Amino acid sequence: MRITIALAVLFAQESARKAETPRPRAYVEVKLKVAVRPDATAEQLEKLKDRFERAAKRWWECTEGHMAFTEIRIVDRTEEGDVIVTNLDSTHCDRKAYGRTVGERVYLGGRFPIVTFCHEMGHRWFGLPDEYDDPKCGNCVMEPWKGVFEFCDGGNHTARGADCWSRILKKHPDWKRSRPGECPPVKISVEDK
Ligand SMILES: [Zn+2]
Ligand SMILES: [Zn+2]
Repeated sequence: MRITIALAVLFAQESARKAETPRPRAYVEVKLKVAVRPDATAEQLEKLKDRFERAAKRWWECTEGHMAFTEIRIVDRTEEGDVIVTNLDSTHCDRKAYGRTVGERVYLGGRFPIVTFCHEMGHRWFGLPDEYDDPKCGNCVMEPWKGVFEFCDGGNHTARGADCWSRILKKHPDWKRSRPGECPPVKISVEDK
């Protein structure tokens, strides 16, 4: 009798542990081609590689583990790609803006702030609006200057219109707010030309 009870306790502990461990779940995997329009040196390409790797990890955090850039190909002296690097020595993609999203294309400068990358991806993948005009959003990467690598929700959104998570959920109804967990490895390659 005593043995049976002890076993039952053990089973109960085991199932409690299982419930705590988050189950690995599916995420959207994206392969990205980065076109570097000017001719970059090997050193500049190395720096870009590092920057894109950090950016990919931050995007994983922003999407709370629902979307990962698992493969990034950085191609020197090329016109077309998912991300276009228009110049190498600037934080801006052009004279006026840090970044731009035109349709499915994202334009960045070679020294883009990581937060700009995530902000533009918010436009690109979810069609989210800017939240940096008054009234700004206090808790969202769509207002990038707070340095927040998150999307706002109904509880903390302070700009006009709908909060970003409710907009994201319209496109991805099965996504759930959650901790991102470990970012999957990002395979980054560089083609110097
Ligand atoms: Zn924007
Ligand atoms: Zn907001």
